[in-house]
Amino acid sequence: MAFRLDIPPLEPGVAAEWQCYAAKPKDMRAIHLPEERVEDWQRRAVDKLQELLLKMRSLQVYLDICAQCGACADKCQFYLGTGDPNNMPVQRANLLRKVYRYYFTPVGRLFGRAAGAEPLTEEVLREWYTYFYQCSECRRCSAFCPYGIDTAEITIAAREIMASIGVATKYVTEVVAKVYETGNNLGIPPLAWKDNCEFLEEELYEETGQRIRLPVDEEGAEVLLVPPSADNFANTDTMIGYAKMFHAAGISWTTSTYCNEAGNFGLFLNYRNLKQVNKRILDAARMLRVKKVVWGECGHAWRAGIAFTDTMNGPMDFLEVPYPIHICEFTWDLLRRGAFRIDKSANDDLLVTYHDPCNVARAGQLLEEPRAILRATCNRFVEMPADTIRERTYCCGAGGGLLTDEIMEVRMAGGKPRAEAVRYVGANYVATPCAICKAQLPEVMKHWRVEVDGEVVRVGGVHDLLGRALIL
Ligand code: SF4
Ligand code: SF4
Repeated sequence: MAFRLDIPPLEPGVAAEWQCYAAKPKDMRAIHLPEERVEDWQRRAVDKLQELLLKMRSLQVYLDICAQCGACADKCQFYLGTGDPNNMPVQRANLLRKVYRYYFTPVGRLFGRAAGAEPLTEEVLREWYTYFYQCSECRRCSAFCPYGIDTAEITIAAREIMASIGVATKYVTEVVAKVYETGNNLGIPPLAWKDNCEFLEEELYEETGQRIRLPVDEEGAEVLLVPPSADNFANTDTMIGYAKMFHAAGISWTTSTYCNEAGNFGLFLNYRNLKQVNKRILDAARMLRVKKVVWGECGHAWRAGIAFTDTMNGPMDFLEVPYPIHICEFTWDLLRRGAFRIDKSANDDLLVTYHDPCNVARAGQLLEEPRAILRATCNRFVEMPADTIRERTYCCGAGGGLLTDEIMEVRMAGGKPRAEAVRYVGANYVATPCAICKAQLPEVMKHWRVEVDGEVVRVGGVHDLLGRALIL
């Protein structure tokens, strides 16, 4: 039977109450934003919109050219999961478009609602806060729009405007504040980072009988690895996979306690913080005098890395080409050149499928390398239906700063298409190079009861499977 996802009946307002908690003043202060909503917020928001329209021609084009054709309407996982029309990409974008029309187009000013225009009121701001934080900035809709309109860019603009008037979410602002304080999203202090690396070294010794290192702050190493910090605490099999890979290839590497985070929640908030968080990676590379920076298994980190590093904080020409480079590109290059001995049968207990993280695939154009690593390390690999992978991949349901428990209904609704695609192919392991997908998808599999032989489907990284198959 062909794979098919049902289009839900329209349920206006069903997701209207599912809101992220508001940011705390101390976090807003730490990340250079107003501690609370400013008094003259309407005027300042409209001024900010004007500034963005002048800076980013694409934004005005997207707001002007939408034909309201509806081709994107059923392409968003959050609409498919909730049925709320404000989660249709076109309708989500209209939340900003109506304000743009009211203040910046003569027809909107003259004819108001009849021309799809509305002033920025308390109610409109509430809609923005709700629905622009039910968009994971995944860009799936843009792959289906005949005009190439990127609703994620519209969400990014709306969040930038809200941040400028002191409106943001607790989760996103807390994470950015932790990066400035500790160097990573989880708030792990340097000593704890080092301790955990030593702990994993001991585990590796017990498993392999070899001294495989997880070096920290080693000046002059060839490679600086910037992983998502979750790899050193939650997804430790991924971290172990990296360590085994570098060890087997004989390449010196290090992590940095100044910047042990590839993730960049500035991407989900505003450009100033995006730039400042991103800069830390190059600063760490200069401090440690490395030749290469390798981005670990993190989706939005790679999007921020590949799309913004050179333009915001470059040039990167103090590093060896190619740059920036993702760990899957790095590892695949070594694998195809025969740098490793592999025992694929080590993964024979798994039927593996691959979930393309939106930011790795659609925004980062990394489609083949992770698959090539999986095919080289697993005998049993199966692809999910074509409409759910590669450029058409569905978001896990928690990207874009949505991985927070108070909007669990939104997250589970958004994860449903991926859950059904995994169920359809019957895999018992989902490999994905993204820390957010690795945190979200186990919950999704449990919630939607995606099971094989009574066991909930497992989720892990690409390097977890390489680590199992490497002969050391
Ligand atoms: S960017 Fe993704 S989450 Fe946002 S509207 Fe488009 S499909 Fe939905
Ligand atoms: S597919 Fe493009 S043009 Fe059509 S409604 Fe969606 S954003 Fe507008």
